[in-house]
Amino acid sequence: MDHAQIINELLCLGLCLEQDEAPPRPPGEDLTLLVGGRAVCPPLGDSPWSLKAGKLCRDGRALNIPVEVLPPPAFSAESDARGVPLGQIAQRQGADCLAVAVGPTCLFWPSPNRCSFCSIGPVRDSDLDLEDKTPEQVALAAARAKELDGVAHVLLMAGVVPPAGGEIKHLIEITKAIKEATGLPVQASLLPPAFTKDLKRLAQAGVDCLELSLMSFDPAVLGRIAPAKVGLGLDRYVESWAESVRRLGAGQVSCTILAGLGEDRAQTLQGCHLLAEMGVIPLLTPARSCDQFELEAPPDPEYMAGLYAEVAALMRAYGLSLGMAKAGAARSGAYTALGAWELEPLSLLVRPMRNTQELDAALALRHEVFVREQGIVQGTDQDGQDRMALHLGAWLGGELAGVLRLLPEDDSQGLLRLGRLAVLPDRRGQGVASELLAQAKEQARRRGADKLTASVQKANVPLFARQGWREQGGFFAVHGWEHQEMTLELGYS
Ligand code: SF4
Repeated sequence: MDHAQIINELLCLGLCLEQDEAPPRPPGEDLTLLVGGRAVCPPLGDSPWSLKAGKLCRDGRALNIPVEVLPPPAFSAESDARGVPLGQIAQRQGADCLAVAVGPTCLFWPSPNRCSFCSIGPVRDSDLDLEDKTPEQVALAAARAKELDGVAHVLLMAGVVPPAGGEIKHLIEITKAIKEATGLPVQASLLPPAFTKDLKRLAQAGVDCLELSLMSFDPAVLGRIAPAKVGLGLDRYVESWAESVRRLGAGQVSCTILAGLGEDRAQTLQGCHLLAEMGVIPLLTPARSCDQFELEAPPDPEYMAGLYAEVAALMRAYGLSLGMAKAGAARSGAYTALGAWELEPLSLLVRPMRNTQELDAALALRHEVFVREQGIVQGTDQDGQDRMALHLGAWLGGELAGVLRLLPEDDSQGLLRLGRLAVLPDRRGQGVASELLAQAKEQARRRGADKLTASVQKANVPLFARQGWREQGGFFAVHGWEHQEMTLELGYS
């Protein structure tokens, strides 16, 4: 059994822990194991997995795997000037993350619309947590956790606080105080706000990462576990994800997706694809029983392994990794085995452009090739359709090396026009154009197109032909350069 399988099983099936196998933890803090150097917070209870004499056992048999139980954090035993224990203000999560519930209890928490998997409400209902913690108190807890326990980032969790948007004010005040006291990177976890300008305010206050978690792309499951989120609608999530990536960058926004709740697998993967394409980390996480929700059966590790493999491949295809996240749940990775499935980054990555900066870079590259190098057009090759097109970029070793665009040509025939294929001169002969064409085909299929068409420069005809494109008619001149009309039937190629 390798480390990935072990971590996956621990997170799905849990860990049976005898009292004397781990030092007492502060109230509200999950047990953290280091398995092969990775932080794992398994649910505790009946399980084939157990700890005996410091060894990890499966069905009572000790396995020869390096495992370490993290001691309780030292900061939580300290108090502030008013005698409030710091462990009541914040809890360690995983190996090096400090988690803090901010603001008063969520509007949804006392109602039947509450989320079954809420991690804020139960803490707030207990007497473990202060509702009215001040920014100064949180900053002190963060500073002591950083100094005593090596905490390296902070997760701020907020529910919905009235009046509308009240949680934004709490998040901003507390972020500023943490930044001033510690400089630690901060992730804010919240519901998509009504106004996307609030996401800009959070970014301006110093929030490094955002967690905007839908929890499930299966509407039936979401209705069961988080009816309030159904009410918000997917569009509000999509708008907030897009704005957050625009503000903070790809890989700094995440969305937890719970699995093992009887969800539709295809819908789940489609949703993860949507997230990855937008630059949002799909934080696939096995569901676990909690105070308000008892799972009928734990998530099946084999099912989870299949999902992890597919989501890890999606992340690689869109240039994402958990390690990109500066703070929060994705960086900590203690509740998901996704990190154990991650793949080496691609040296040649082709994906859609995500924002205006990337689009501007694409236009500049085209200008370099079509205007400066080839002199095909004078001044500019832009024709007014660029803002409507889907632009694909190819990054070779992290640098933009080539681009193309796809435009709707004839909706009644499901026809898309591929154009403006350009690769920088010193990046040719390294498979950039081929990969751009392959990904254009994939993107066109995903968008339901039946056929692609293109006017191809004569020198590129063999390249297109190798990918199944067929010539239509004879050569014709465009700006004095010979071109060939070519098409690709997506249904048959
Ligand atoms: S919106 Fe957030 S805080 Fe409110 S009930 Fe749901 S998970 Fe809990």
